[in-house]
Amino acid sequence: MAIIEVEGLAKNYGPVRALSGVSFQVEKGEIIGLLGPNGAGKTTTMKILAGYLQPSEGTARIAGHDVVEEPLEVQQRLGYLPENAPLYPDMAVQEYLLMMAELRGVPNDRKLLSDAIFGTGLQNHLTKPIGALSKGFRQRVGLAQAILHKPEVLILDEPTNGLDPNQILEIRALIQRLAQHSTIIVSTHILPEVEATCHRAIIVMDGELQADAKLDELTSTSNAVVAVDKDAKAGLSTLKGVRSVEEIGKSDGFRRYRVVAEKDQELCPMIFDLARKEDWRLAELRPDSRTLESVFRELAEKGAAA
Ligand code: ATP
Repeated sequence: MAIIEVEGLAKNYGPVRALSGVSFQVEKGEIIGLLGPNGAGKTTTMKILAGYLQPSEGTARIAGHDVVEEPLEVQQRLGYLPENAPLYPDMAVQEYLLMMAELRGVPNDRKLLSDAIFGTGLQNHLTKPIGALSKGFRQRVGLAQAILHKPEVLILDEPTNGLDPNQILEIRALIQRLAQHSTIIVSTHILPEVEATCHRAIIVMDGELQADAKLDELTSTSNAVVAVDKDAKAGLSTLKGVRSVEEIGKSDGFRRYRVVAEKDQELCPMIFDLARKEDWRLAELRPDSRTLESVFRELAEKGAAA
């Protein structure tokens, strides 16, 4: 059974249709990147999963428990870092975490508290007021409250928003550590972030699910990049399924081409055979891949055209 099951989720804010027909499943242990431009519906989806918002249509289940019908069961299994975590600037870190543990009914267990503190690297900041911490450390406090009860599922809404590059690296490493014990959905619009951390991306645009695939499936293409020591454009163009050949560079006597093929063509073996037949020297031959950024742009353009 998938640990997160979302089916036909929709949300209306008055006349605004923020989500429509969103369905996906997440298996135990996955780190999922929930992506989309501003206003796409990421926060709405996460708030529904965390039980902070009722869906207008559809269902969501965490470990088999419906988020609307069985909120307590869900809350025990889920940790949530909201986009703007409400932290109390005058409270010391430890005081705040103790308060959150009590509010949530987390058993009075020093081990749970110290695991959350050490897990997020807050051990040397316990007596500092939250307001005196850097933004990166405040984000750690938000994460610490989300993991206090060792949840099976963690929902993190833009955890690196507004952080500097060093802090982003720290939070990224932290998310990877947390993934050893939890299934994670993390929303962001920083795409390299997803490439660095996630196994799978779920892309929403205008409240609808546009893509749900493993990262390598999203970014792989049928195209190839090849570098040879001859003018090979004409020869490469004759291969079966090739749509176009573009010269993309020249160095050390080698010409580099991007060979664009129709879907599902296995270009590299054909190019290798051709090179042997024509007696070309090969300096490079590999499948081409797209960046997540270009996948994202294409989806956005398709959406705008539709
Ligand atoms: P961002 O990246 O900017 O945080 P998002 O993908 O998280 O965006 P949501 O916050 O889920 O998007 O918003 C989806 C849509 O719903 C937007 O059009 C937004 O303006 C609208 N919306 C969100 N909350 C409310 C609300 N409380 N009342 C009315 N409309 C809302």
